[in-house]
Amino acid sequence: MSGRSDSDVLLVGGGLANCLIALRLHALRPELKLTLLEAGPAPGGNHTWSFHGSDLRPAEREWLLPLADHGWSHYEVCFPERQRRIDGRYYTLSSTKLAQAVSALPGVEIRCEMPALHTGPQTVQLADGQTLGARLVIDGRGANESAGLVLRYQKFLGQELRLIAPHGLTGPLLMDATVAQQDGYRFVYLLPFGPDRLLVEDTYYSDTPDLDAASLRSNIQSYVSTRGWGAREIIREERGVLPIVLDADFDSFWPLADAGLPRSGLRAGLFHHTTGYSLPEAAALADDLAGVADLSSAHVGPWIRGRAQRRWQAQRLFRMLNRMLFLAAAPAERYRVLQHFYRLPQPVIERFYAGRISLNDARQILSGRPPVPVLRALRCLPPSASRIGAA
Ligand SMILES: Cc1cc2nc3c(=O)[nH]c(=O)nc-3n(C[C@H](O)[C@H](O)[C@H](O)COP(=O)(O)OP(=O)(O)OC[C@H]3O[C@@H](n4cnc5c(N)ncnc54)[C@H](O)[C@@H]3O)c2cc1C
Repeated sequence: MSGRSDSDVLLVGGGLANCLIALRLHALRPELKLTLLEAGPAPGGNHTWSFHGSDLRPAEREWLLPLADHGWSHYEVCFPERQRRIDGRYYTLSSTKLAQAVSALPGVEIRCEMPALHTGPQTVQLADGQTLGARLVIDGRGANESAGLVLRYQKFLGQELRLIAPHGLTGPLLMDATVAQQDGYRFVYLLPFGPDRLLVEDTYYSDTPDLDAASLRSNIQSYVSTRGWGAREIIREERGVLPIVLDADFDSFWPLADAGLPRSGLRAGLFHHTTGYSLPEAAALADDLAGVADLSSAHVGPWIRGRAQRRWQAQRLFRMLNRMLFLAAAPAERYRVLQHFYRLPQPVIERFYAGRISLNDARQILSGRPPVPVLRALRCLPPSASRIGAA
C-alpha cells in the first residue's frame, strides 16, 4: 500500500534505542501513533544490557530501573597487581524484558519479520513491496559499515550457566584480567543472576573482529572449572563484536546531506567510544526526544545529528585512551592500561563510564607514570589535526 500510514512515528529497527524511544514517546506523548518495524522475530534481539546506576540521569533512573532484571550494590575488578571492590549500583536489562515492556504498550503497533529496504525522511520501503509513511522516521537498525571510523573491537561470547552448586559471588566481577592474556586485552566478566545462575563472558579488546566461538566456549569451560564450579546447564548464549573507536571523522560517518534522515542508537553513533556500550546514550536520547515539540524528520534529524556530533567531541579523551591501549601497549601488556585506570577515585570512574568526564577528570586519568612505554604513549597523544577536533 504505497505512501499510506496510520502512524505519526515510524521506528525502523526494534532494537535497544528504538524500543526505549517507543517507551518514552508512549509515556510522555500518548497522543502519537507509533509503529515499530523489526526484521527479526521479536523486538530486542538476544542481549543482556548492563549499565552502572551512575550512567543515568535521575529522571532516566526513575523509568528505566523498574525494567531491569537484576541490580547489585557493588562490583569488583581483578588484575594481576590490583583488586578492587567498588560500592556502586550495577544493573542488567534483558532483551526479553524489554520486548515484553514494548509489546505491552497499547496503541504501539509492532511489526516483526518486517525488514525495511530503504528509509527516507517520511517513508519506509519494506521488503514485501509496501511503502509506509509518517512525519517522523527514525533509523535504528544498529551498527553498519561506515566511513569515518578507525576501529578496534571489544568482542565476547557469554554463556548463562546453571551451576551444580552455588557460586558464592555477591556481586558482578566486571573484569577478571588475571586470566591468560591472548588476542589483546582479555578478561572474564561475571554476572551472578542467582545463587547458582551465572553469566560468564570471555572478552577481548582485540585488533580484529573475528570471533572463534568454539575456542571462547572452551575458555569459559576451563575458567568455570578453575574457579571450582561445575555447569549443570547452558541456559543461553550471546555474542557481540562492539566498536572501539581510535579515530573518528563525524562528517564522514553521518554526512550533513543526510541530516534530514533521523537515526538512533549505534546507527547515530550514540555509543561510548571505549566500551562500545550504548544503553545510557539510548536512554538519554529517548527521554530528550519525548520533549521535542516538533516531531518531524526535518526537525529531529538535525537535532539528533547535532547531539551525536557533540557527544563525539566530548569523547576525544576516550579515543586517545583507546589509542594508548591498542597502539602503545604490546597486546599482552594492554591489561596494564586498565589496571592503572582502576587506581582512580570512584567518582572519576563513574563519570568515565557515563561518558561525562570533566577536564579535571581527564587530568587525573592521564596523571601518574604511564603503564605503557612513554615514547609510544606520547605518539598516541591527540594530533592537533582538525580531523579529530571536528569529530
Ligand atoms: C551481545 C551484546 C551485548 C551487549 N551488551 C551491552 C551492555 O551490557 N550494555 C550496553 O550498554 N551495551 C551493550 N551492547 C552494545 C550496544 O548497546 C547494543 O549493541 C545495543 O543493542 C545497540 O542498540 P541499537 O538500538 O543501536 O541496535 P540494536 O539493539 O542492535 O537494534 C537494531 C535492530 O534493528 C533490526 N534491523 C536491522 N536491520 C533491519 C531492517 N532492515 N529492517 C528492520 N529492522 C532491522 C535488528 O534486527 C535489531 O533488532 C551489547 C551488544 C551486544 C551485541
